[in-house]
Amino acid sequence: MALTGIQIFKLLPKTNCKECGVPTCLAFAMNLASGKAELDSCPYVSDEAKEQLAEASAPPIRPVALGKGVRKTATGGETVLYRHEKTFFNPTVLAATVSSDTDLAALDTKLKIYNAFQYERVGLNLRPELLVVKDAGNGADAFAAVAEKIAKESEFNLVLMTEDAAVMKAGIDKAGFKRPLLYAATEANADEFGAMAKEAELPLAVKADSVEALIPLTEKLTGMGLKDLVIDSGSREIKQALEDQVAIRRAALKAGNKALGFPTIVFPCEMASNLDMETLIAGMYVAKYGGIVVMSDFATESLFPLLLERLNIFTDPQRPMTVTEGIFEINNPDENSPVLVTTNFALTYFIVSGEIEASKVPAWLLVKDSEGLSVLTAWAAGKFGGDDVGLFVKKCGIMDKVKHQELIIPGYAAAIAGDVEEELPGWTITVGPREAAHLPAFLKARK
Ligand code: SF4
Repeated sequence: MALTGIQIFKLLPKTNCKECGVPTCLAFAMNLASGKAELDSCPYVSDEAKEQLAEASAPPIRPVALGKGVRKTATGGETVLYRHEKTFFNPTVLAATVSSDTDLAALDTKLKIYNAFQYERVGLNLRPELLVVKDAGNGADAFAAVAEKIAKESEFNLVLMTEDAAVMKAGIDKAGFKRPLLYAATEANADEFGAMAKEAELPLAVKADSVEALIPLTEKLTGMGLKDLVIDSGSREIKQALEDQVAIRRAALKAGNKALGFPTIVFPCEMASNLDMETLIAGMYVAKYGGIVVMSDFATESLFPLLLERLNIFTDPQRPMTVTEGIFEINNPDENSPVLVTTNFALTYFIVSGEIEASKVPAWLLVKDSEGLSVLTAWAAGKFGGDDVGLFVKKCGIMDKVKHQELIIPGYAAAIAGDVEEELPGWTITVGPREAAHLPAFLKARK
């Protein structure tokens, strides 16, 4: 049972030191009870109190770790219905299906293609995480061989998909070291699959015929000591499956239904006859509220938009993406290279640095902390003022790296030129283009 705000308050130090970001311990307790604060924000909670508070502060949807290595990930852990209320935490995991009757040489080629589906965006590497090894009924050895090859020879993590306990056991023996998700315990095999998952300490998917039918199953499995569950309401009809996602999320968050407080797995691959339609359906579940979305295949025209959608939905709306303040060297600049300045909004940085790189002109790019705002917004909000920029240029160390005294400011911040000049006596302040796309021509024309 979750604790109330007052019950939590009784376990806090009651010093009102404000270090957690709110004025009183009572306010912090209330935030903790409503899932708006993390227990870690208070450094003074005793270990004993921590234990008692663990349940109250645990997210209503359990976070489940999946896989090992560079593509290890987690699903669940969500605390809100709508992204604007706080943020969504663990991005929907994207998976493709590999049948256990896939020829191993063909699998080799497929893995190389899948591995190449990686996209750089605002400094992040966007890529899918999982492959579902689907039992084609061709025996435990074939299933295990495919699982082993993926586990050992690729970065991908796995879902082992069979309802045959002997086949699953063979898959665990060969690929268990990569912490695969076992799919799936059903009413018919829950005891056997529950015991297998418990013994191997692996996450287990639970499949039923409806949301209601999931409840006794997850209760049974948690009663066996299993915690890391992923749930499948069984629907392969688009509308019903979406309704199930919403019902599960609401039940866990609003009604505190612990039996449904787990991330979900959905199968667009079983709801459409072609990849285009699958992609559209998958897009819907990325937005609402698929924990793992299983496609029949990965193709760049399908994957890239899904990864991008995922990036946008799972970015904290209250914290713009930023890059670290500092000096960035582009195209090996020297002491005579031009010096440009911009803000630390990630999109601004990557567009500006990309254009400078494309120009092939060596340059120094100074990135000033503007709390993640773009140039025009930062200027309007007083976070990219002339005196701030001038002070930053003085402090950042660029003066030790160049022997000229010229600073190029963004065209959108032309109004700060006078103030920067005042802060940097002797320097020439040049107003650059407004649009980053015009930077290459601007820089080349100066050579
Ligand atoms: Fe109270 Fe802890 Fe917050 Fe300090 S940091 S006000 S002790 S809850």
